Amino acid sequence: VLVNEDLDELAAVVCENTTAIADRNVLKHVIQPTAACQLGCDYCGQEHFAHQISEERQDALLRRLERRLRRGEYARLEIGWFGAEPLLGVRAMRRLSPRLRLLAAERDVDYSATIVTNGMRFTPELAQELEIQHRVKAAEITLDGPEAVHDVRRPARNGSSSFRRILGNLVAVAQTPEIGMQLNIRCNVDKENAGSVGDLIELLAAEGLAKRISLHLAPVYSWGNDADEAALSLPDFAAREVEWLSQMHNLGFSIDLLPSRRRIVCLAVQREGEATDAVGNVFNCTEVSYVPIYGEPNRYTLGKIEDEELETQAPFRSFNREVLSGKHARCAECPMLPVCGGACPKQWEEGNVPCPSAKENISERLALWYALRQP
Ligand code: SF4
Ligand code: SF4
Repeated sequence: VLVNEDLDELAAVVCENTTAIADRNVLKHVIQPTAACQLGCDYCGQEHFAHQISEERQDALLRRLERRLRRGEYARLEIGWFGAEPLLGVRAMRRLSPRLRLLAAERDVDYSATIVTNGMRFTPELAQELEIQHRVKAAEITLDGPEAVHDVRRPARNGSSSFRRILGNLVAVAQTPEIGMQLNIRCNVDKENAGSVGDLIELLAAEGLAKRISLHLAPVYSWGNDADEAALSLPDFAAREVEWLSQMHNLGFSIDLLPSRRRIVCLAVQREGEATDAVGNVFNCTEVSYVPIYGEPNRYTLGKIEDEELETQAPFRSFNREVLSGKHARCAECPMLPVCGGACPKQWEEGNVPCPSAKENISERLALWYALRQP
């Protein structure tokens, strides 16, 4: 890409980012309806406990969203159901979804939702309910390898195989023609399971899922804990990823090789993007609730959902300005900034380096992309 010699590229990129954030007409809110989860994943930084969001807090959340929709010029309300395991809080979801949809309809804005679930309860019946009644258009489910590998990393607390249950649900949902939602599988990769990622890819293809799901391989990182100690180095992950992407392509998966322009890096930098957990804490980042190391009260909290006024100085919201001012010099000098956006403001804040694998393997990705375009 050629630009004029006298253009201040960094300023231009950051200006486009901040304009996109100011112009975004989607109100995004993440809801964590419960603090419970059936799994005990070894890299998870959250501490789980049995608690569903109370009806009083649900009503406070609805009032907050109503105020925001009234104030701003939004075209869509987008809810992200997140955990702990959101489907253990399905009672609260069933009460909230119709009210959220009504709220959107009254203000004449579109409504949609997504869910991140561990897949243990993701049966075809519940998936259909999610799609029809909760307007869920995409679900993300994690599988960390073939059965033996996955079950060591993501054991069910009752000792049963979580792999068999999750894969069984996934295959049943994928085979239900009435269910059209996007199915995204995430595989968290570190030294422990890197050697079996290829087997997982083969297994998913053998189950007939290659054309129905998208598979995303993500390096394990610190979630307020020491999970990153088992992480592969970025160059190692990136080199292996090129092999995995080639294998996926050969088995019929569609693969995302080239990153595109990323103007809004995440929820945390959005104008009014927020997350509410089951005990009523409000955050603007999705990975801080239930994480004990962030203290009590959680150092990232903006306040409680029932508070009229919340903290207005939300963390990370000025990330783009900080890049421009030189606080994040590595991003400011990085040729990947336009397509990366800085990856994760929280990781930078905590002293980690969150660069995506494409920073290391963009040449190989381009070569593969080019090769696959040849007749
Ligand atoms: S700051 Fe990082 S962890 Fe928080 S929402 Fe953004 S990308 Fe996610
Ligand atoms: S690749 Fe790394 S240094 Fe470059 S913009 Fe992304 S996070 Fe920043």
